Amino acid sequence: MDTTASGSSGPRSSGLRSSGLRPQTVVVAAGRTGPVPGEPLSVPLVLASNFRSPAAGPDGMRASGYAREDGTPTWAALEAAVGELEGGTAVAFSSGMGAISAVLGLLPAGSLVVAADDAYVGTRVLLADGAGTGRWQAQFVDITDTEATLAAARSADLLWLESPTNPLLDVADLLVLCERGQAGEALVVVDNTFATPLLQHPLALGADIVVHSATKFIGGHSDLLLGLAVAAEPEVAGRLRKRRMLDGATPGGLEAFLALRGLRTMAVRLERGQASAGELALRLREHPAVGRVRYPGLPEDPGHKRASAQMDGFGAMITFELRGGPAAADALCERLRLINSATSLGGVESNVEHRGRKPGQEHLPPGLLRLSVGCEHVEDLWADLAAALGSLS
Ligand SMILES: *Cc1c(COP(=O)(O)O)cnc(C)c1O
Repeated sequence: MDTTASGSSGPRSSGLRSSGLRPQTVVVAAGRTGPVPGEPLSVPLVLASNFRSPAAGPDGMRASGYAREDGTPTWAALEAAVGELEGGTAVAFSSGMGAISAVLGLLPAGSLVVAADDAYVGTRVLLADGAGTGRWQAQFVDITDTEATLAAARSADLLWLESPTNPLLDVADLLVLCERGQAGEALVVVDNTFATPLLQHPLALGADIVVHSATKFIGGHSDLLLGLAVAAEPEVAGRLRKRRMLDGATPGGLEAFLALRGLRTMAVRLERGQASAGELALRLREHPAVGRVRYPGLPEDPGHKRASAQMDGFGAMITFELRGGPAAADALCERLRLINSATSLGGVESNVEHRGRKPGQEHLPPGLLRLSVGCEHVEDLWADLAAALGSLS
């Protein structure tokens, strides 16, 4: 099915990665209109819900030209770019949860899903909810335990991985878990939101589907909700598109446009956030008010070796605990001036959240703080943290 729905000037699905360009270039160059004189450089924001009837195919059938069924040029541009980055066929959804629901919607009734016990809270609640209504069975495993995960996955229909996890930053051994055949017949899905399509490429390791909350690093400006599922096999992408058509979790036109605009700068944003996160993790670790710090870039972090082997960087997310426990965590959130006390992550602004205060997060160490490091100057971020931490004692 033609996903551009608009005839001539759809984004090129250019094989940029296969032409050897680096991901930092692909985010800038992919999903643009072809080299046609007079064409706009950036794919325009198309808000149309329907298009003039497309020409009939060789079988005499016509695509409908209705956006929920065939997409729009703006969605298609974003999908082409992210598909290029991940090395698969991307389908955009209304949100990360929309993409996740569509993936789980591929499962026949009664399937067994084995999932990370620290997967994103929405994923875990959705899995538990569907298990409660008899839609599927859900089993949660510690995905840092590769043997236990594989043992469970081999009798499952779907293995749901997330690495690094939100929020504990657990790192799964994707080199082993995604390797074809290791998980038996199970479809292997990786939520790649924290790693971004710049730092980790699960499809290249053998995973079947990657999902993203593009609300986070891809959008990058905390001004949209959007999700993507990227399938290694075009046939699976077609089934995901069918889920989108039937369930109706379609992305907004403006959101798709903004997500693509955000993607253009993701490499530079992430480079800054990641460099600052590495520095802040080191300084937090030395601070007397701070307890355990988790950041895969720290040499002593339990995920460090794996992250070094399978990621091209350690990302811009840190979690840490305070010696003063949950009360100190609340106080820190209140006293930070520059860093926002706010949920969500991956934006140009830095946010901190006392994650253990959220429903569905009872498994977390009490007082766990999640810090999304944005694009501010690292010394300003540290000055803010140091002042708030210093006021605790
Ligand atoms: C936020 C998030 C989601 C859900 O995405 P939405 O866009 O909020 O629906 C899924 N996975 C991870 C890892 C997330 O951080």
